[in-house]
Amino acid sequence: MIESTNLCLSCGLCCDGTLIGFVRLDTKELSDLREIKHIEEADGKGFFLQPCDDYCDGCTIYSQRPKQCAKFKCGLLKSVEKKKVDFDSAIEVINTVKQKKEVIEKKVAKLKLELKHKSFYFKTVELKKILQHIKYESDLSKNHQQLMSDLNALELIISEKFDLL
Ligand code: SF4
Ligand code: SF4
Repeated sequence: MIESTNLCLSCGLCCDGTLIGFVRLDTKELSDLREIKHIEEADGKGFFLQPCDDYCDGCTIYSQRPKQCAKFKCGLLKSVEKKKVDFDSAIEVINTVKQKKEVIEKKVAKLKLELKHKSFYFKTVELKKILQHIKYESDLSKNHQQLMSDLNALELIISEKFDLL
């Protein structure tokens, strides 16, 4: 239990917009959540976009966090809880994701690719579309190809280790 809490405190990838783009809210909790955080609402349904405003090296509204957040466990966390992955190896995976994310963000800035989205999750979706479009119009430069391969490599680690489906 302490290990899993410490793992999440060292991670935050499901709150900072890296792994998840938005959080759906239970209709019954909307009125309470409206009081404590900015949420989007349409047709009686609610959600909020990541990165979450309440994430600051941990959840700042932990005791009142949405149900979806409280019940969420990624595959990596479940593997640590089941002792299939040890704590240090899990931290290594998290750090690898953070490093790869940083490299991608630096390359995006260097290539002067302008992205509309705020979360890394939606940025990667947008980036892939842009790269496909460039590829369709002309050949991808070496730097663009490298960026595409970095995105694919990160996507593979996330799908293999975090099992978000
Ligand atoms: S992504 Fe997994 S390990 Fe990281 S904070 Fe979320 S539940 Fe915890
Ligand atoms: S409300 Fe808390 S647990 Fe939920 S996404 Fe925001 S910071 Fe994370």
